[in-house]
Amino acid sequence: MIIIMLGAQGTGKGTVAGLISEQMGWPQISTGDIFRKNISEKTALGIEASKYTEKGELVPDEITVPMVEDRLNWEDAQEGAILDGFPRTIEQAEKLDEMLKRNNKKVDLVINLVTPKEEIIDRMLTRRVCSNQECKATYNIKLHPPVKEGICDKCGAPLKQRADDSDPEAIKKRLEIYEEKTCPLVEYYKNKGVIRTEEVSVAVNRMGKDVAEDIVKEIKNK
Ligand code: AMP
Repeated sequence: MIIIMLGAQGTGKGTVAGLISEQMGWPQISTGDIFRKNISEKTALGIEASKYTEKGELVPDEITVPMVEDRLNWEDAQEGAILDGFPRTIEQAEKLDEMLKRNNKKVDLVINLVTPKEEIIDRMLTRRVCSNQECKATYNIKLHPPVKEGICDKCGAPLKQRADDSDPEAIKKRLEIYEEKTCPLVEYYKNKGVIRTEEVSVAVNRMGKDVAEDIVKEIKNK
């Protein structure tokens, strides 16, 4: 089963994807995480990608698309995978459809998370991530703080703020790109009949973990 997480930055895509991944045993494939790992390891891909990620711009498809195709071919992704951060444009969605078709697969479910904009910006500024690249757990100092301040509950490594989360200009740029390039994907997947929109917000008292719980229950009941 191929699941795609859709939604602006800070809506909790990573949280929902991580919980479904844990419960179903399918990998969470986050293009942002793959880029960040390569950047910290200073690989050729990472050095090239950082030119774009630092400014909040999209990394070109020539780099991103083959990277995703390669990851989807790993053994652990054959039963299912949760794509988090890809596709981000109509072109990427079309390329994904083509690569899945070559393997007799298709996009089965698109989870579209919607959160009010003011809440999103606040969540990005208060998001903290585990500095251990193998762990990558995500926290929020207001909504979901670690037990011990600044320390990851799961692995004990220090927490840090993502470089692009601390720069208000980069946050603004990412949200603009989301509106312009990624929002049209909602229509694209609506037309395919695979989208499920979920409001995730303090205002409606529904958070990522509630969405993940419902979806896992439904998948297991099928
Ligand atoms: P994220 O962790 O999903 O917010 O991604 C962090 C950064 O990685 C983005 O701001 C982009 O620069 C880059 N990135 C992640 N996914 C993609 C993608 N599908 N296409 C192009 N660039 C991406």
